[in-house]
Amino acid sequence: MAPLVKKSAPPKKVTIAPKKATAAVKGLAPAKTVAAEPPGGESRTALVRRARRINRELAQVYPYAHPELDFDNPFQLLVATVLSAQTTDLRVNQTTPALFAKYPTPEDLAAANPEEVEEILRPCGFFRAKTKSVIGLSKALTEDFGGEVPGRLEDLVKLPGVGRKTAFVVLGNAFGRPGITVDTHFQRLVRRWRWTDETDPDKIEAAVGALFPKSDWTDLSHHVIWHGRRICHARKPACGACPIAPLCPAYGEGETDPEKARKLLKYEKGGFPGQRLNPPQAYLDAGGKAAPPLGAG
Ligand code: SF4
Repeated sequence: MAPLVKKSAPPKKVTIAPKKATAAVKGLAPAKTVAAEPPGGESRTALVRRARRINRELAQVYPYAHPELDFDNPFQLLVATVLSAQTTDLRVNQTTPALFAKYPTPEDLAAANPEEVEEILRPCGFFRAKTKSVIGLSKALTEDFGGEVPGRLEDLVKLPGVGRKTAFVVLGNAFGRPGITVDTHFQRLVRRWRWTDETDPDKIEAAVGALFPKSDWTDLSHHVIWHGRRICHARKPACGACPIAPLCPAYGEGETDPEKARKLLKYEKGGFPGQRLNPPQAYLDAGGKAAPPLGAG
């Protein structure tokens, strides 16, 4: 199948001029420090425009960007997100059906025999630590939250093994509350795009959050992460097959030859869309056509 990305035009020169940026991120993102100045020589206004344009372009390329973990409820998403550390979402999706069939509720998992859980989680790697986390967080949910996943950041981050990244995934996708997920892809891409030069995830979250309306945060996170997984890889970004090359100051960091770049596109074929084995109903209702199978042919 021909790749569904547009051929990249030669990149426009991105000029960047520093200017004060003091936008505060309120509400769900208590990270208080916002990058004071855009990196490079771009004005604040130009940076905001370019960042939003990149997000719009990515929304066209990944019209069905969504979390790539299978889940039916907040508890399943919380556990799956904890399990996804250091492994692929596809691997997690292959593992969680057996886990949730045996332990469908926090109460069930809280009372589980750790050795039996370890056996199920073995394919996810770090299975002892992950077993401890998911049993621990299930106990906390049972004892402190009546067996329900709380819908507040400050409660979620108190659960064992749950950091801000996991909490925002759950808030954004199981509770519909805007959140920015600063994972490894997000950190790499926003620095390549010179949206910020911060390296601390909380500061990145605050700096990027200030460039977008809150209502964009969750989808933005999906777009950036999908782009990082499929095109803008850590080692060899496929610049020559990148639809946002004209907006990217890091164009040329990877392969620029279109043919060679196309061969670098990655797509884990677990199911559609993305790595899900159990696609959501909305995707099926759309005729199963919404997810672009980049590089799948
Ligand atoms: S570094 Fe290359 S692949 Fe990544 S966004 Fe820029 S142009 Fe695209």
